[in-house]
This record gives sequence, C-alpha cells and structure tokens, in this order.
Amino acid sequence: MVIFPFTAIVGQDKMKRALILNAVSPQIGGVLIRGERGTAKSTAARALAALLPDIDVVENCPFHCDPDDPAALCDDCRSRMAAQSVLPRVQRRTRFVDLPVSATEDRVVGTLDIEKAIQKGERHFEPGVLASANRGLLYVDEVNLLDDHVVDLLLDSAAMGVNVVEREGISFSHPARFILVGTMNPEEGELRPQLLDRFALCVEIRTITDPRQRVEIVRRRVAYETNPSALYQQWQSQERNLSHDIQQAKQLLPQVTYSEQDLYTIAELTAEFEVDGHRADIVILKAALANAAFEGRLTVSDTDIFLCAELALPHRLHKKPLQDSALKLEELEKRLETSRADMASASPSTASAGTVKKKMHPSLMTPGT
Ligand SMILES: [Zn+2]
Repeated sequence: MVIFPFTAIVGQDKMKRALILNAVSPQIGGVLIRGERGTAKSTAARALAALLPDIDVVENCPFHCDPDDPAALCDDCRSRMAAQSVLPRVQRRTRFVDLPVSATEDRVVGTLDIEKAIQKGERHFEPGVLASANRGLLYVDEVNLLDDHVVDLLLDSAAMGVNVVEREGISFSHPARFILVGTMNPEEGELRPQLLDRFALCVEIRTITDPRQRVEIVRRRVAYETNPSALYQQWQSQERNLSHDIQQAKQLLPQVTYSEQDLYTIAELTAEFEVDGHRADIVILKAALANAAFEGRLTVSDTDIFLCAELALPHRLHKKPLQDSALKLEELEKRLETSRADMASASPSTASAGTVKKKMHPSLMTPGT
C-alpha cells in the first residue's frame, strides 16, 4: 500500500516537528497528539514510520534485535551469540505497529508458558506487541480509552527500553525500544494526569481554518484517493530529503552539546511555569539536542529550548486554570519568535558558528510561506 507522504501533510507544524524529533532521538520518550477526529493524526504517524531507514536485524529473531548492539540482545540472541559468536543478519523496513484499543496486558507484553517450563524445563515465550514494536514505531490510537494499566506498561517500556516478563520465578526479557505515538480526542475523555505527564511531548492539533490551506488539504487528499502512487511520485524527492535529514541528524546527535547556561534557561522556564517534578526539564533538554541536530547545529540554542518547551509543557500545565495556561503559552510563543528573529538577524559569521546546514528546515514550512 502506498501511504500518504509525510511532507504532503498541510500545516500542523508542531505535530510534525514533535514526530521528527522522536524519530531523531527515540529516547525523548514519545509524543501524545491531542485533537479532533480527521486531523491527520494517524496519517502523520504512519507516514513518519515510512520515512525511517531500513534496519539490520538478527535473522529469525521475533524481537528484531540489533546485531551491532550486543548489550541490547534478547535472551535468545544472547545464547545464540555465545554458541556461534556471529549472528546472521537481514535488512528490513522499520515497522509501524498499531495497538488495538482492546489490547490486554498479555497481548502487549507477551506470555511465558509456565506449563512447558515445568514439564520440559524449557522456557517458552510468546512475543507480544512490545516485541513487534522493538526498533519501530508503536502507534496507540485513542490512548485515553485504553486500560490505565496497559498504558502504564507501554510508558514503562518506552522509558526503560526493555520488556521484562516474570511469572512464578521464571523471567524473560527482550529489548523494547520504540517511538511511542499516542493519540486521543479529549472530547472522549481525558487521560489521568499521572499518565499524561509521562508522555514526553504533547501537541494539541486543531482543524485548520485558513481557506488556502483547507483547499490544499482537499486537493492533496483527493489526489491521493484517485491515484496514491502518482501523488507519492510528486512528493518523492521531499520525502527522500526529509528521510535523509533525519538519518543525518541521528548521526550528528551524539556530538551536539549544551552549555551550563542552557540548563539554567530550561530550569528558569519550568520554574516559571510551575511544572511539578523534573521530567519536563529533562525532556526539553533531550528534545532541544535533537532539534539542534535536525537543524544541522552542534550546539543547542535558545530557539531550540523555547520550541521544545512548547512541545513539553502544554500537558503539564493542566492543574492551572485554562486561561492562565493559555496566557503562559502565548508568552512562550512570543519568546520563541523573538529568539528566532535574533538568530535570523545575527551576522552570518556568528549564526553559522557550529552550523553545518541551514537553520530552518524546509519540510516544515507551510506552502506559500
Ligand atoms: Zn533477539
């Protein structure tokens, strides 16, 4: 099936940026997309997965272990490695895994066959959704309608990067590193604040009201429905460029640095916004590093910090009165604009210090702007 291209999605820049940053650095910890029906949420997640590069996996491993990362092998690959020293590898596409709303705990984490273990003394593990999702993208539609306990398990695994199943003294573990993308329609019920806070980033998306953009949405949608391949052809070079840039950013990321001042900028922001705990600070820093890498810079800037704060703070302000939160976020938006303007007007020599590519990524510009 030809999917709708990521770069052909009109507007929704924050959602696109949040998804891209998680693709660059899955350690950020996922994104929750809140919005009405029909706002391209699932289209965007699916399209992002299609942009991710092929990966090398251990052949016949249900967890798609990375043959180049011996520290993160499943128990089976570990024994195979001990026996043969070299693991057979194959290349495959990065997987998009869609979690059904009805998923139970067993279905998510997998099951250990205790009977077999007792009778034959062998450990048999039936892989679950977390196994399929390892090194891929796990899409959870209507996460607010899912059992709280299951959401908890997903978030734990996303944070730890590993799934451990224990039953009656027997345990099995396998890597479970994935890009977590959850969506919800707030009109159908809220997510508990404790769970909300554990989604690293959150974007609120609204139906686009600009007539020109609406026309463009209809035009591309109809083109896709009429002939998906033809539309894809049209966007192929943009898709290829973005895919390449994400890949490039992943490689650059370990070299991106931040300063003491950046940490203070973040801390002052989160203190000012009266955010509980320290999760937001850490998320903003990780996302800012990914944003710098994506824009081809080796150091974090204030613009990265403000932009990522806009993605990390909205869902953490919920205990404040709504109007108060809106005002705060508006003020943050202004600061982001000012710092963007500062960056743009800085002399080319200072602006390009540590820069290996242009500053604003073209894939995120709205058509006609
Ligand atoms: Zn394995």
